[in-house]
Amino acid sequence: METFRCSLPATDLIFGKGSLECLGTEVRKIGKKALLVTGKKSMKRLGFLKKSCDYLEKEGLEVVHYGEVVPNPTVEVVDKGTERAIDNGCDVVVGLGGGSAIDTAKNIAIAAGHFEGEKISIWEFAGVHDKPRQITSKSLPVVAITSTSGTGSHVSRFAVVTNQKTREKIGIMSRFLCPRLSIVDVDILSCMPPSVTAKTGFDALTHVMECFVSKRANPITDFTCLKAMKLIFDYLPGAYNKGDDMEAREAMALADTFAGWALVTSRPILPHALSHPVSAFYPEIDHGVALGGLTLRIMRFNIERGDEGTVSKYCEIAKTGGEKVASCNKKEASKSVKAVQELLEKIELNVTLKDLGVKEDSFEDMIESAFTTMKGPIEANPVPVTREDILNLYSKSM
Ligand code: NDP
Ligand code: MN
Repeated sequence: METFRCSLPATDLIFGKGSLECLGTEVRKIGKKALLVTGKKSMKRLGFLKKSCDYLEKEGLEVVHYGEVVPNPTVEVVDKGTERAIDNGCDVVVGLGGGSAIDTAKNIAIAAGHFEGEKISIWEFAGVHDKPRQITSKSLPVVAITSTSGTGSHVSRFAVVTNQKTREKIGIMSRFLCPRLSIVDVDILSCMPPSVTAKTGFDALTHVMECFVSKRANPITDFTCLKAMKLIFDYLPGAYNKGDDMEAREAMALADTFAGWALVTSRPILPHALSHPVSAFYPEIDHGVALGGLTLRIMRFNIERGDEGTVSKYCEIAKTGGEKVASCNKKEASKSVKAVQELLEKIELNVTLKDLGVKEDSFEDMIESAFTTMKGPIEANPVPVTREDILNLYSKSM
């Protein structure tokens, strides 16, 4: 076996139906005053915001609510939350919601933790600068309560943020971004409507497929990715069709957690690299939907140009997706595309970029943005790619 190096996740996880109940007793061990970060509607409407406040207050914690997170959260949203945390002297940040709320909580925790009297913005920490501000142990502790099964953010060391002015959507990465504690309660997950189940579940599938074929994959990634892929192929259609199927919800939550680990131990590749600019230029296009419009085309590209090792990984994906694979060659590997396409059809996410409203005249700027903001995933792709290849991939995905 080749020598390898990878990080390992560093989060305490409490997983299971009703586990939100332990929020107060657990957060009490971490801080005294919590900034509770949510999106604008769902958690309030479903009663989980009130429940969370009650559990925290019952254990003597003070709670300050920040409920202005939008999907594809922006620098402004993070900076406003940071101000709220600083003004109120919060010492722990709790994110309740999907990847957008959890990432915003993580980003607020960085910026508020590094505040030293001068106005501070999360963008100072973004890796797009020559000398980004260092993220240190000053970051406030984060508690993540996930309400979707897709981003793996509840156990990962990434937090995504979009700069609307420069149209850059980036992932900030640091070990200090791993939540201190993570709660996965299927009662919250079972409230996802079908469209959210579909796009977040497909995001999880792409995390594990990409991390599996990535140049940065290793035996630890392989194990978690194959397990998660099987769970998603088997259970995502069920979770999509019958939201209260707890077995399917639990399976998806486990898969999402494995996928979060995969993001820590390996690195995503081209579909993520090309989907970020799509949401940066078209903020109304959700992350998972953009991935739905790009993934099949990129799989074909990687299989056509891939070496033996890459082709054999796509054969494994095909087998995991239920295809019969007799031997390992490019033709058999293409069955992985068929398996993923069938899944996309079952969850009504087999879309083109054109369906989503993407215009060809944004391609050049999107390519530029991919090279500045997603260099890591581009380099981790098992097949080298040029600007022209990316232009082709965007064009063929229309
Ligand atoms: P979001 O958090 O954006 O949520 C999508 C929508 O679903 C929102 O309108 C939200 O409502 C609603 N919603 C969430 N949970 C529920 C629920 N249980 N019941 C009903 N409605 C619900 O979705 P994602 O989880 O997909 O997060 C996407 C973000 O995460 C993107 O910015 C993406 O780039 C990022 N990401 C981060 C990663 C990481 O490692 N950190 C990895 C991959 C993606 P409301 O707004 O009202 O709460
Ligand atoms: Mn993703």
